[in-house]
Amino acid sequence: SAIANGTVIDHIPAESLFQVIRILQLDQINNEVLFGTNLDSKKLGKKGIVKVRDKYFKNREINKIAMVAHSATLIEIKDYLVVKKKDVSYPKEVNNIVKCFNPNCVTNKEDVPSKLTVVEHQPMRLKCHYCEKFTSEQNIVFV
Ligand code: ZN
Repeated sequence: SAIANGTVIDHIPAESLFQVIRILQLDQINNEVLFGTNLDSKKLGKKGIVKVRDKYFKNREINKIAMVAHSATLIEIKDYLVVKKKDVSYPKEVNNIVKCFNPNCVTNKEDVPSKLTVVEHQPMRLKCHYCEKFTSEQNIVFV
């Protein structure tokens, strides 16, 4: 169903749908959230979709979406009209979004926000700005 104002996140790989909901903490907000999963998609085979009423995502949140669902499209709606449509893209750098995998890293020992560079995409690999250790896709933990 259509929403009057808010954001539609389309083209989420079906297997990433609940991760997107979790990292955006959509299970903890008061806005109306609609989602569908295992919908047929020409692009992905099966896709998920999320609609959040009265919410527009900030860059930090969009970067999080890109990390787990880089095929996603964000559609912003105002008064039932699409005002913005954009594909998410891999961020070059993620600040205070992902934990460094190195337990001895200063960002895990002290109150220093993490800063990682995305060095490879598929699978994703991130390099820590501080300790220069790599965090691989399967070890990604969101802050
Ligand atoms: Zn580190």
